[in-house]
Amino acid sequence: MSTFGGPHDLGMSPDEGLALFSNADLKDPRYSYLFLPAPPPGTSGLGRRLNPDQYYFACRWNYADTPREFLRRALARVENPANGRTADARPVDWGPHPSTGRVADLSPGLAAALGLNTDDVVKITISARRAIPVKPTLSMKRAGHGSSNPHAKPAIKQFIKSPNCSCRNGARIDKIVLHCTEGSLASALAEFQKADGRQVSAHYVIDRNGDIYQMVSDSDRSNHCMGANQNSIGIEHVAGETDPLTAPQAAASAALIRWLLQQYQIPRTNIFGHDFAPGYSRPGGTSCPDKLFGATHDQRTIAAWVEANV
Ligand SMILES: [Zn+2]
Repeated sequence: MSTFGGPHDLGMSPDEGLALFSNADLKDPRYSYLFLPAPPPGTSGLGRRLNPDQYYFACRWNYADTPREFLRRALARVENPANGRTADARPVDWGPHPSTGRVADLSPGLAAALGLNTDDVVKITISARRAIPVKPTLSMKRAGHGSSNPHAKPAIKQFIKSPNCSCRNGARIDKIVLHCTEGSLASALAEFQKADGRQVSAHYVIDRNGDIYQMVSDSDRSNHCMGANQNSIGIEHVAGETDPLTAPQAAASAALIRWLLQQYQIPRTNIFGHDFAPGYSRPGGTSCPDKLFGATHDQRTIAAWVEANV
């Protein structure tokens, strides 16, 4: 293997592109995380714009076996056989050039995470049956070091402490519950700060413009989903009962969820709409999360949104 991509890869020309991605993908939240927010000075191609800290790679693909569209949706397991470290990474390009004698090119961040140097042997497994449209993760167990969440926590505009929370007593965080405020940002923030009202709260409130407010620490239990608070993180989205998410709100929510999944090792299948959260026990249920994620009130709608966006 060798490494490639990013502002410092002078082996790529300033206008060199990528075989699997185009400029249109910069706006797609499924792929935009692979790239720097702006092109490095003097460059116009996507190769130098890759974020070298993200986990991507190139192989000399035979497109008859692994078509471009398959590769664009695929995640591969990349392993350093010398130390057993693994990470999930996205294919982004064709390469390296046959004259190098190498068959795989890794992002500098991926190579560093796996402890690989140029000309080391790497094992890459990609399954034609299972293209997984999710973000890459480093296998913590085998990586042998502590904090390696590849996703930064999105910026929190303000932490406004809610009194309506309690200790988790060591309970593990294993699910995320998504809500609709059915009202304005101001009314949600006010209600969650009131100690003598309904005594409800949420860990996060995401405004229509994508601003994220935090009101309860992740390590504490917030009162957002009766019967399912002990092990969950609650995220409120500001919207009326018939409103879908706005684009910036969806992007902020997806970024926050991505970070939470990795931070607490929460399975992707454990992201629920309020009414569908296992353990939720309020008699009569709730209309929440309303039309935020689609017109139909069912968990499948939530799961489809997660699949497409997170
Ligand atoms: Zn709710």
